[in-house]
Amino acid sequence: MTTDHGYPAVRMHIAGEWCEGGTGRTAPVVNPATEEVIGQVPLATTTDLDRALTAAADGFRTWRDTPVATRTAILHKAADLLTERAPAIGRTMTLEQGKPLAEATGEARRVAGTLRWHADDARRAYGRIVPSAPGTVLTVRREPIGPVAAFVPWNFPAGGPMRKISSALAAGCSLVIKASEETPATAMELVRCFTDAGLPAGALNLVFGEPAEVSAHLIASPVVRLVTFTGSVPVGKLLAAQAGRVMKPSLMELGGHAPVIVCADADPVKAARRAAQAKFANAGQVCTSPSRFLVHASLIEEFTAEFVRAAEAVVVGDGLAESTTMGPLANERRLKTMERLVADAVGRGAKVLTGGARPDRAGYFYAPTVLTDVPADAELMHEEPFGPLAPIVPFTELDEALAVANALPYGLAAYGFTDSAATAERLSAELEAGILSLNHCGGSVHEAPSGGVKDSGYGREGGPEALDAYLITKRVSHLLV
Ligand code: NAD
Repeated sequence: MTTDHGYPAVRMHIAGEWCEGGTGRTAPVVNPATEEVIGQVPLATTTDLDRALTAAADGFRTWRDTPVATRTAILHKAADLLTERAPAIGRTMTLEQGKPLAEATGEARRVAGTLRWHADDARRAYGRIVPSAPGTVLTVRREPIGPVAAFVPWNFPAGGPMRKISSALAAGCSLVIKASEETPATAMELVRCFTDAGLPAGALNLVFGEPAEVSAHLIASPVVRLVTFTGSVPVGKLLAAQAGRVMKPSLMELGGHAPVIVCADADPVKAARRAAQAKFANAGQVCTSPSRFLVHASLIEEFTAEFVRAAEAVVVGDGLAESTTMGPLANERRLKTMERLVADAVGRGAKVLTGGARPDRAGYFYAPTVLTDVPADAELMHEEPFGPLAPIVPFTELDEALAVANALPYGLAAYGFTDSAATAERLSAELEAGILSLNHCGGSVHEAPSGGVKDSGYGREGGPEALDAYLITKRVSHLLV
């Protein structure tokens, strides 16, 4: 069923059934390219949440006890369905989040790969036999931790949920996932692939609601054994504290403010092109988006000129239009933040070389923006912009660039451009980040872990490390009588 805008009718999924919220309460879903209401998202009551928790407790026992080969086959079948449905899911994603259709469809296809990788990796979640005394068998086993409460944001409507769902289900856990109320239909279509693939009822429950109420209720429930969140640092700290109070482990994938250090021996044109491409992907609404450009003074003119050229080549428009390379910001809050950060920087003496304003049209659009002469005390140099703003700042000594890069409490992604192996080694050793890319701005891959240090969070998603949070380690010593 779809609305007049070709947008799916959104439902929650609890105990194997599609449902509306208990009181029928809903919130509007807005297309950020047109500001039109395109649908309604149902909001859960505490009774709905309790049903989801009971279902997750039952679903956990069923799913954990399903042979691993069967589990893997179901997850692969869901990945097949996702691949098949990627064009339709991509369109839904563009309608509710704004990103260009090619990016959205690409994301829907990519998450099928995420799922396959974790499904296969779970088959290798080996324990071990430890040498011990004669007559004693000492083993170390890895077991699923139990039902998981997961909370994901709106910037990757498929990628965010899939990182949590794929690791949890692969490990044998069940979930109650609260996806973003701003991008609910993509999450719903993802869940539909699992149910159509034969996932048992209760293993994956999808809810929406008032975020603070839902998270407080789920985290406090004795059913939930792990809390996993992707989103902003303040909300992450709040949820980690709530989890800590009831002694639950948590996995926190939070924000960043990624420095890009362009050293004196780098190619400024290549560096500018690669950094600009990453900067404007998803309109800069990526936790690993490059966001502080520290460029050696000898290269700054060439780097800046090329970066401005790349920014001006970006085609801003409705994500459904084929020519669009950057869509609108996902919501009005982001637009207001761009306006505030640019006004603050300009008020402190920064120059806007290109962009710096919203175009005169409906939708939450903001032009790709390049700023220079941004003083160190500008808000933009401290607060994660999460949007298409690129402040370019000169440095003369690498020590100075490293000190600026490491000065913030964030520690998610960092980037370096250099032609010297020794400098690359120094950047690798000294940049305080969980993810470092040299001479490119690499995105995440299924095979390797992503995650932060410092305020950017803890735990890893992707790679074999992704299962760690979802498995407990149990020592069993067995005296053979
Ligand atoms: P926000 O801090 O209000 O919310 C971030 C996300 O957390 C949203 O999806 C929201 O629904 C959810 N949330 C908020 N309060 C919650 C609660 N008590 N319990 C559970 N979930 C809750 O900010 P926003 O305006 O939606 O996004 C802006 C900021 O969020 C950005 O500046 C960026 O730092 C951060 N963000 C980070 C990521 C990421 O991938 N790490 C993704 C989206 C947003």
